[in-house]
Amino acid sequence: MSNAPILLTPGPLTTSSRTRQAMLVDWGSWDRDFNQLTASLCEQLLAIVNGAATHHCVPLQGSGTFAVEAAIGTLVPRDGKVLVLINGAYGQRLAKICKVLGRAYSTFETAEDQPTTAADVDRLLAADPAVTHVALIHCETSTGILNPLPEIAQVVKRHGKRLIIDAMSSFGALPIDAAHVPFEALIAASGKCLEGVPGMGFVFAEKNALAASEGNCHSLAMDLQDQQAYMAKTGQWRFTPPTHVVAALHEALVQYNEEGGLPARHQRYADNCKTLLEGMAKLGLRSFLPAEIQAPIIVTFHAPRDARYQFKDFYERVKAKGFILYPGKLTQVETFRVGCIGVVGAEGMQAAVDAVAQVLREMEVLDI
Ligand SMILES: *Cc1c(COP(=O)(O)O)cnc(C)c1O
Repeated sequence: MSNAPILLTPGPLTTSSRTRQAMLVDWGSWDRDFNQLTASLCEQLLAIVNGAATHHCVPLQGSGTFAVEAAIGTLVPRDGKVLVLINGAYGQRLAKICKVLGRAYSTFETAEDQPTTAADVDRLLAADPAVTHVALIHCETSTGILNPLPEIAQVVKRHGKRLIIDAMSSFGALPIDAAHVPFEALIAASGKCLEGVPGMGFVFAEKNALAASEGNCHSLAMDLQDQQAYMAKTGQWRFTPPTHVVAALHEALVQYNEEGGLPARHQRYADNCKTLLEGMAKLGLRSFLPAEIQAPIIVTFHAPRDARYQFKDFYERVKAKGFILYPGKLTQVETFRVGCIGVVGAEGMQAAVDAVAQVLREMEVLDI
């Protein structure tokens, strides 16, 4: 497997062989050992946000979006109203979830290179008393932009509203402390900065809010209150758990702690991001976001202007040299993206930059 390409994508991403090896065991879903694995996992995840006193960690089968939908469906009352803050595709998805679930919502959209500000949220909440919940993407993965979560959380609290945070691509790498950043729900998943494999999400749900949501969810499988209550009673997941994904994430967390936990994970990704930005700048490739609002998770680059540049061709050639890139997700400008997360360090990022340089030479792309 050593010649398998490195995924420079925001999940699934490159995992360690130890994490993959943890999946070579079959677990019984009712078995005490597996239940202990789940309990230990939830406890460790809660510790990362310092949420043990205030929040439950509710795991859920499926990709990250399943957990986002479950959080909104469970916690937003049927007569509630969500203010959705949007500056990219994942924010758009939040609004779509509200629409499909039949929850009232309004949207506030800024350009893809403009963070939502606390002042925006203050003004919007003052203008619409019907809003019960605010939904925010912490790091909007469609560009890599970082929204100012702590400031927005304080404003939401001051207005007596509840905050739902999609922290899918930031959790585990960017610090979030539940004791200082008030939220009703924060959502993340196994296959991003914790460097597990994809297949489960988890929601940190405020204990009282979760208890109060009994019977609110429109869906049986997506009901986080029911999932949590059942787990508290039996130690088991409702419905077949993604056993191998749980075991892999548990093993990934052992390595997370060995590495030095969140500060070390953050530092490695920040170093990756710096190596990438500096290396690409030397090639003349410009990043889409200014440094102040760039999260060290994924970087969007402007595509070269040269007509000889075609993403598909570029992608295949970089892949042949061992690196998987990611297409852009912007509608207005042509871009491509490079992830900084996963089991990769600054040396690997430099090798990726070198591969990009070689490929651009091969393609005779000059007008960058
Ligand atoms: C990855 C991601 C999701 C979840 O996407 P899935 O494809 O369902 O795993 C949601 N929000 C953000 C910000 C993400 O980066």
